[in-house]
Amino acid sequence: MYVKVEELCRCAHMVRIIAVSKYTGRIHLYSCIHGMETRPTPLFKNFRPEELDTKNPSVDDKKFSPKSIKDNSKYRHALVSFVKEWNSLRPIEQSKLFNKPLQLPLAVELCLNESQNHDKNGLLKGGSKKRGTSLDDISYLLPSNAVWKNVSIFHGKKERQYLQGWTLTGQPLCKLCQKNCTKKSATEPEFFEDLFCDLECYEEYRLRTSNRYLRKELAQIEHGICTNCHLDCRKLVKNIKPLLLEKRREFVIKEAPKLAARKNLLEKLVIDPTEGNAWHADHIVAVYRGGGECRLENMRTLCIACHAEVTAAHRAERRSERAKAKKQLNRLLANLKTVQDKQKDRDECRMIDSELLVNVPGSAYHTTNINSDRSEEGDKASEDAGS
Ligand SMILES: [Zn+2]
Ligand SMILES: [Zn+2]
Repeated sequence: MYVKVEELCRCAHMVRIIAVSKYTGRIHLYSCIHGMETRPTPLFKNFRPEELDTKNPSVDDKKFSPKSIKDNSKYRHALVSFVKEWNSLRPIEQSKLFNKPLQLPLAVELCLNESQNHDKNGLLKGGSKKRGTSLDDISYLLPSNAVWKNVSIFHGKKERQYLQGWTLTGQPLCKLCQKNCTKKSATEPEFFEDLFCDLECYEEYRLRTSNRYLRKELAQIEHGICTNCHLDCRKLVKNIKPLLLEKRREFVIKEAPKLAARKNLLEKLVIDPTEGNAWHADHIVAVYRGGGECRLENMRTLCIACHAEVTAAHRAERRSERAKAKKQLNRLLANLKTVQDKQKDRDECRMIDSELLVNVPGSAYHTTNINSDRSEEGDKASEDAGS
């Protein structure tokens, strides 16, 4: 095993692979020699990111256990870079990369994990100004060799029916992407998940159609901690719940003064101390800016005070944008009016010119195309001029 590590450090073709455990957060090391090995070989070395001193990579860190690797400056350098990049990721980004073989840069790994519809920031490609996707819109187009079928699933004793595409040959299709569902449970679905080709399609479907699911998933990753002011909203709710009203108020004023400063939000939380009254799921790229119908990557936890701040800022931004647009429109209309007025003036001048035009038969200006009225006028004018 050590030979491999040594080789790894000398050989540029050696690919270092790192995986981070979802459950323990420990970093596991693998090696894979390019062109020689098809699967990564576990090095049976693992450690927690904080065991590696990322601030001072040149100084040996006594706590870092896998000695053979630590002693090799090249390998250590790669690990330090990995931990630095890993730590700079948002929790949602980290969660997407857990238990997967990784190589630097992690930004590329995130791109590889993009869904077909969304980019790596979770935004629908092309953007959307809709908050959620309607159930009618979410499924991909049904292939020509398939039909919609009502499928029953039992929630306890309650039966619920769902529409699912089935091929004419009796193969169920994924409720989101319309690819074949190959799992055993697909033909006799027991759970809603069984209507999808894989867990990713199921998650995307739920995230985009259910605000409750989106909030639940966000809570699992960010644990109700405000990403702006870092207030632990979950803990706050837990702490005030058993208290009497007045004590609750006092507690919030002391522990979360920013929130307490907003009297109506404070009262709502004090009267009904639930997480829904303490933190909100906020779109990082606002819905009106195309951040709708997104995945979790575009969502963040904000305490109600920070959320109110962000919402007010958005409102002001939209108001000023509307005012600017209105001004621009007014300017455009004014310009149009000036052009029209000028045109009208020119037309009137031309009319007066033609009224004054003396149509002398045989002259260079004589025209037979002038209509009879005009020519009569012309004759009249010539008579007037003659008299
Ligand atoms: Zn699918
Ligand atoms: Zn906050």
